[in-house]
Amino acid sequence: MIPTKEYVERKFDEFNRLCFDGKLSRLPVVMSRGRSALGKLSFMRRRNPDGSEVCSDFTLRISTRYDLDERVVEDTIIHEMIHYHILSHGLRDTSPHGPIFRNIMADINRRHGRNIEITHRRTESEMAADTERKLHILLVAKFSDRKVCVTAFSRSASVLLPIWDTLGRVVGLSDYRWVISADAYFNRLPRSRSLKFYRLPLDELRRRLRAVNPIIRDGRTLTTGRAIDLTDFLADAR
Ligand SMILES: [Zn+2]
Repeated sequence: MIPTKEYVERKFDEFNRLCFDGKLSRLPVVMSRGRSALGKLSFMRRRNPDGSEVCSDFTLRISTRYDLDERVVEDTIIHEMIHYHILSHGLRDTSPHGPIFRNIMADINRRHGRNIEITHRRTESEMAADTERKLHILLVAKFSDRKVCVTAFSRSASVLLPIWDTLGRVVGLSDYRWVISADAYFNRLPRSRSLKFYRLPLDELRRRLRAVNPIIRDGRTLTTGRAIDLTDFLADAR
């Protein structure tokens, strides 16, 4: 389904009663053609005279660019409503999807049989704010049309090795590199347990992959090597 403004407003009221004890005040709903996120809660961060900050002027934006399963649309609305709940009640979480967010999300998922997630529906501003440093195991894959995609994996050889073994059968895959990076830029990628190729802007990749550690495979053993530069690998990418 492609949601309408009326639909989103009706769902907001419904989930407000069901999941938030009716404690959220209505807010403007704007339908957009946004590409980067299905849902987005925009707001202003206001600084009080005493130096404290409040969030105000909330708007719920829902994208009409994608035709999605209704459950996904509903989960997206609830996801943004959790942000709204936290920010409009002045709750202080450590990050946009910090422990408070995760607790509320897990609670709603359990009590209402939902499948709200953190990963996919993040907005650009949230991603830019996500600076936590963690190690990313990245598969940088180049295809015969010279397009480059990236997959991020959790740190588990039991996941990596079977995937590594299937790469020879991926249609159109012409070359690839396995690397480790601590660059927070890659926090935006969901951790995959299977091959899902994500396109990231090439200029960012060129910048971010100048110094990464290769993963070296010896049979069933994985080790890391000294930093390498993927500039040459990306040179003919488009
Ligand atoms: Zn979010």
